[in-house]
Amino acid sequence: SKNDGRSVFRFFEPDMDARLQARRTMELDLRHALKAEEFELHYQPLVDLESGKVCAFEALLRWHHPTRGLVSPAEFIPLCEEIGLIIDIGAWVLEEACREAVHWPEEVKVAINLSPVQFRNNRVVGAVAHALASSGIAPERVELEITESVLLQDSETNVEALRDLKDLGIQIAMDDFGTGYSSLSYLQKFPFDKIKIDQSFVRTLAERPEASAIVRALTGLGRSLSIATTAEGVETEEQLEHLRSEGCTQVQGYLFSRPLPAGDVAEILKRVFHR
Ligand code: C2E
Ligand code: CA
Ligand code: CA
Ligand code: CA
Repeated sequence: SKNDGRSVFRFFEPDMDARLQARRTMELDLRHALKAEEFELHYQPLVDLESGKVCAFEALLRWHHPTRGLVSPAEFIPLCEEIGLIIDIGAWVLEEACREAVHWPEEVKVAINLSPVQFRNNRVVGAVAHALASSGIAPERVELEITESVLLQDSETNVEALRDLKDLGIQIAMDDFGTGYSSLSYLQKFPFDKIKIDQSFVRTLAERPEASAIVRALTGLGRSLSIATTAEGVETEEQLEHLRSEGCTQVQGYLFSRPLPAGDVAEILKRVFHR
């Protein structure tokens, strides 16, 4: 009846309201966060398995909220993408990461995540070119990590943007490889310099034969294409040995280091991992 409907509506209303309110508050806080300098980049090493040395650091965004403390990117990046704020934040990440990396040894690269939203309006090429020029970093030391969603929508325009980025001299890695619908076909659309094997496969290496079959296929693919393969989320010696035996070229994960503030990079660089 009409009455039931109304009572159901009343029952859900406060909850919905609270969620919308929380979202609205987070949106306002985010719009303020860049100017208030609440963002920071943390850096996690990528280790080359042949040399045992750090070959790159991935820049990972951190938000220090004045009252809520550290907020996870998984929580705020989707909202930033929805409201378009990721364009400004992404530009800041590019500038900040390049400015920092220029002080590292020249054989150490910096990996920077790009959102598919940054590809809209072809603004990303200008943003990358600006970060390169203002920091003075050598373009070949910069690796941009994109997910296949970049090639899912506006694929013609985005492939063109990727080519323009390559023309700047930077490297392009495909992130979260194997988790999407048709990752393989994207390898044909664009010549990636690296594939990053998603941590969901690494996590289940020991328990699931499917995961180890996928890891074997992906490292084999990297070898056939003569490109690097980085396994993400490596937490145990067992996983490391497995990945090494499959010929994975680089590893990244808590086994080596968590993402750390820029000030800790020098200390990590002194270490040689698992020779
Ligand atoms: P991602 O690019 O796949 O980054 C890897 C995530 O795995 C990071 O989470 C990292 O801290 C975490 N991780 C690294 N090693 C391990 C491990 O051994 N075990 C486990 N369980 N996790 C590990 P984080 O920093 O929370 O970032 C989450 C996601 O947020 C990233 O996933 C990326 O998609 C996005 N993100 C982070 N920073 C940026 C950014 O500057 N721009 C954009 N567009 N996205 C970003
Ligand atoms: Ca990444
Ligand atoms: Ca991932
Ligand atoms: Ca991701």
